[in-house]
Amino acid sequence: MITVKNVTKKYGKFKAVDNISFEINDGEIIGLLGPNGAGKSTTMNILTGFIEPTEGDVIINGYNISKKPRKAKKCIGYMPEGVPLYKDMTVKEFITYMAELKGVKKDKIKESVEQAMTDTWLQNVKKVLIRNLSKGYKQRVSMAGALVGNPEILIMDEPTVGLDPKQIIEIRNLIKKLGKDHTLIISSHILSEISQICEKVIIINKGQIVAIDSPEHLEDTVNVENAINIIIEDKENKMPNLKINGAKRIELIKENDDNTKEYRIIPEKDYDIRKTIFSDLAKENITIFELKKPEITLEEAFMDLIKKNEKEKEEQAKQEEEEKKQKEEQKKQEKIDKKEKKQEKKNKKKEDKIKKGGKK
Ligand code: ADP
Ligand code: MG
Repeated sequence: MITVKNVTKKYGKFKAVDNISFEINDGEIIGLLGPNGAGKSTTMNILTGFIEPTEGDVIINGYNISKKPRKAKKCIGYMPEGVPLYKDMTVKEFITYMAELKGVKKDKIKESVEQAMTDTWLQNVKKVLIRNLSKGYKQRVSMAGALVGNPEILIMDEPTVGLDPKQIIEIRNLIKKLGKDHTLIISSHILSEISQICEKVIIINKGQIVAIDSPEHLEDTVNVENAINIIIEDKENKMPNLKINGAKRIELIKENDDNTKEYRIIPEKDYDIRKTIFSDLAKENITIFELKKPEITLEEAFMDLIKKNEKEKEEQAKQEEEEKKQKEEQKKQEKIDKKEKKQEKKNKKKEDKIKKGGKK
């Protein structure tokens, strides 16, 4: 089990990682997703004890990585960004070296190294110098270095970056295989890649966690609900006030130089809006030049999630403010009520006195 508690990493004033917290259970396959510069590698370097956080704690199977680094690190195999550095070693030499670094017992080293090479399909190149391997093979060597000694937790930083499609499939299959008996954390800047392997995705942006969710649910949000983009000529500018059957929202994307405009139309749930777009726009004499499903980039998806997240936060703050105001108002009212009651009592006493006096 991995617990990350309020971890921050500062470089000067800049926060590469900004107060993140999450938990990973044994056997889970987690994707760490974010655009370039989001803080993925920094997070992984902190998780594996490569760098110290400025604030916060990382606990690996009960060991705090800052206080019990050796015990914590023993549970982890790390495949950092890029390819292995020791280019002048053979595959076997490198993996043996990694096993020694990790403190695998002497009499177990040979067996561990063989196992790691078998698991990553490297047996046929074990005597080859790393510098002479293709990128895909180098990645596998790096992975074998992480695997050796059979740590429970494997952390891999963008393992498929720079590979060709065939190699990507190979590495992906390997990762799937490893996922069966390891806790896995894999980073990527490509949602589709992670969604095929991972059960849970942690999205980070600008060092902060934006969402923790299942890939299925995320992709639903990301695919912006069957949205359609249209490019139209709308001389009388009717579009902003137009009602299209089945449309939930209409957003202006951009105005082109040739006086056409691009809009995005988001339909009510699971509704194919294309039919109604044609008929409703024809009625208004709006010409459609193009109609297409938008290619929603990951960047857009992030922005979407981030915007939603920020909006939610804003609304929450507003609500809290509102509640505070209401409470204050209530207190004020109670004070006034008390005062009035007091006054009433006083008045009554006075009246009673007068009445009594009158009787006399
Ligand atoms: P990712 O892996 O998601 O692409 P990184 O974790 O590598 O992102 O980097 C996050 C941010 O922190 C980036 O803006 C990067 O420039 C910055 N950063 C990373 N390492 C350092 C460092 N040693 N010194 C200063 N800034 C750094
Ligand atoms: Mg990185």
